[in-house]
Amino acid sequence: MKKRVVALIMCIMFLLGGCQAEAAKNEERTTYLFAMDTTMTIRVFGGSDELMQSLQKRVNGIENEVSVTREGSDIYRLNHEGSTNAAPDTEVIMNRALKICEDTEGALDVSVYPVVREWGFTTGEYHVPSQEKLEELIAFVDYKKVEPTEEGFRIPDGMAVDLGSVTKGYTGDVLAEMIRSDGVKSAILDLGGNIHTVGKKINGSFWRVAVRSPEGTGLVGVLEVADEAVITSGGYERFFEDEDGNIWWHIIDPATGYPAKNGVISMTIVGREGIRCDALSTALFVMGPERAAEYWRAHGDFEMIMITDSGDLFITPALNERFTPDAAMPYHVKVLG
Ligand code: ADP
Ligand code: MG
Repeated sequence: MKKRVVALIMCIMFLLGGCQAEAAKNEERTTYLFAMDTTMTIRVFGGSDELMQSLQKRVNGIENEVSVTREGSDIYRLNHEGSTNAAPDTEVIMNRALKICEDTEGALDVSVYPVVREWGFTTGEYHVPSQEKLEELIAFVDYKKVEPTEEGFRIPDGMAVDLGSVTKGYTGDVLAEMIRSDGVKSAILDLGGNIHTVGKKINGSFWRVAVRSPEGTGLVGVLEVADEAVITSGGYERFFEDEDGNIWWHIIDPATGYPAKNGVISMTIVGREGIRCDALSTALFVMGPERAAEYWRAHGDFEMIMITDSGDLFITPALNERFTPDAAMPYHVKVLG
């Protein structure tokens, strides 16, 4: 009898010890930081303080290389001196971005920066430029003129490049990879609204990621994801209203120099590779509903939710299986085919 009680107690102690070890193994660490003009939250389950520090350092390192405003960054030098050597991150981001510019027929254009600046989206001092001014500026918008050199890149006089539309996506990929290489099985990163997930939650269930409503304050619904990025470009993120009541937002159609009003008000891309999702959320927003759907049919290596100004929410079939619309959201769900 006594032996059995002792055995039982030992057994319970063993189990409790195991639980504690398990809990310590999955201990949550959260780092908040302000970088790339936005707030970031990195939540890692398991891992170490050293990992958290190295993630933060890596974000700052990427920003120092590609920031368009930071004196001495590769991109700052490119824009001010016409050429630059490129750190490995700059080279990867630029080449990947240029490929997607080409692939989206210029709906994404890394050289649209002077137009973005003219509208005041870089400073918050907004104004509607004259038609003449925009025409003058879009004459210099052409990603094809970004030229690789021996040690970096070169651009013609009058052109300026900004990798801001893809850098957060790239950063998420880099951080997720660092987290995985450290042996961590579960993490979720919020890089200014761009969500990157590593594995699933520690209880084995999918991460549940909310998709914000482009109008009002609520959600359109919740997505279940694992090992994927969820990246949205919305007209609601940065915009201003002019004296005539027109709304102008920060996603520019490089063909016209005006904010893209082709029918899309929110574009969410879900996929394995954050930089591609980030680039496509901007590019497909610019393309408008028909071209965006066409692009998805032609490529199919990503999922999307596209909300239009006609009140429709288009969703790709595989993603629809993992989407729970909010009961109060006003859009008509239409599954793409
Ligand atoms: P955010 O960076 O605000 O989360 P996006 O990833 O959609 O949103 O990137 C939008 C930013 O990219 C804009 O603020 C602007 O600087 C730049 N941009 C706007 N239109 C384009 C475009 N057609 N191609 C490339 N970059 C763009
Ligand atoms: Mg983007």
